Amino acid sequence: VNVLPRVVQELIEKLENLPGVGPRTAARLAYYFLRAPENVSTELAKVLIDIKKEIVLCENCFNYSAEKLCPICSNNSRDESILMVVEEPLDIVAFERMGDFQGVYHVLGGVISPINGIGPEEIRVEELLNRIKEKSISEIIIATNPNLEGESTALYIRNEINKVRKEVKITRIARGLPSGADLEYADDLTLQKALEGRGEF
Ligand SMILES: [Zn+2]
Repeated sequence: VNVLPRVVQELIEKLENLPGVGPRTAARLAYYFLRAPENVSTELAKVLIDIKKEIVLCENCFNYSAEKLCPICSNNSRDESILMVVEEPLDIVAFERMGDFQGVYHVLGGVISPINGIGPEEIRVEELLNRIKEKSISEIIIATNPNLEGESTALYIRNEINKVRKEVKITRIARGLPSGADLEYADDLTLQKALEGRGEF
């Protein structure tokens, strides 16, 4: 017998759709909200609405931002001639937490994945090439994840860059990262080693 009121069932289903949340955790969270003071729910609901209203993509690097330009792109002390290409905004968080990188970023918004129907047009390669054409860039570090899709995306990007700018130095982060790893979960030391050990690509 399903004893759950419809709205509670609906909450559980919504929570189950979140990444990393299974049915048991979803049910536990739903019952937590039922038990908790009302402001716990209203404050969470408000911030969920606020992020969709207030957050845009940085018009330069496509990082999430509250302004037209993200704090990294609007920071004059960052070295604009070194450009790191990452898959997702969360990868920027990981590299910034490490703190050694002084260049700027470009967020692809995914990787090329024929199985999932994602071709080069679905990620921001053209925007990357436009940035490279417009700005004087000395090095492009390709920091896609060290898995199959990340590697093939890196190769594709390298070839496309070579078509527009032959003289620019292209590097790939080192394989200190276990193959198949996710950059966003890598610890600071691993990321630091991967960046330090980057090689011509
Ligand atoms: Zn930016």
